[in-house]
Amino acid sequence: IVQGCAGMRIYPPLYLQKLRKLCDEYGVLLIADEIATGFGRTGKMFACNHAGITPDIMTISKALTGGYLPMAIVCTTDKIYDAFYDDYNKGKQFMHSHTYAGNPIGCATALAVLKIMKEEKILEHAAEKATYFHNALMDTFGAHKNIGEIRHIGLINAMELVTDKDKKVGFDGNLRIGYEIYKKALTHGLLLRPLGNVIYFNPPLNIENKDLDKAIALAKQSMDEVLK
Ligand SMILES: *Cc1c(COP(=O)(O)O)cnc(C)c1O
Repeated sequence: IVQGCAGMRIYPPLYLQKLRKLCDEYGVLLIADEIATGFGRTGKMFACNHAGITPDIMTISKALTGGYLPMAIVCTTDKIYDAFYDDYNKGKQFMHSHTYAGNPIGCATALAVLKIMKEEKILEHAAEKATYFHNALMDTFGAHKNIGEIRHIGLINAMELVTDKDKKVGFDGNLRIGYEIYKKALTHGLLLRPLGNVIYFNPPLNIENKDLDKAIALAKQSMDEVLK
């Protein structure tokens, strides 16, 4: 659903539904890499929930522990799991393991995060914040002559920096304009992430509206200073 660090491009869930169908038709396993998108990042628990599909394999990490401890999991359907499961002497098993597999502190942290997500209704609150944030961004940057588009899903908002708003022409890559704005924003205490001509916001799901306002104001200030 979200292309991630290759440009924060967002595609319609229908594509994923069609992909699932084609994979089933040709017997291809569908892997959903939900490492960046899982646990509410796109507004639903998992990005593939937008399409209502189930992958055969799913990778999860990052927000699984709220980013506080390293923990990654590969989930599979029972069919795949069973394909590697048998008595030891059959030699059928997938002999692969990780030094720190099933690390108890990582697992405890992941469980604590899931508990907090449920108890504090993080997803519901994040949905309200997502609407607030995108509207506020549109108010500030929607008409900005150097913003060609503000793509968004959940709390992710990616702004495309352009020299020509109508023709959607990007800045010369050599100018590294996103990186310049990122550096300027850092001096004001705001951490943005630049990807070429894209600047994006990816705030914590429990961020306060006043902090979102502050981020927008500082981003505007930084952008104006760099682009003036
Ligand atoms: C961060 C990231 C990874 C790498 O995850 P690790 O747990 O560090 O292996 C893979 N895919 C996506 C989409 C990511 O954002």
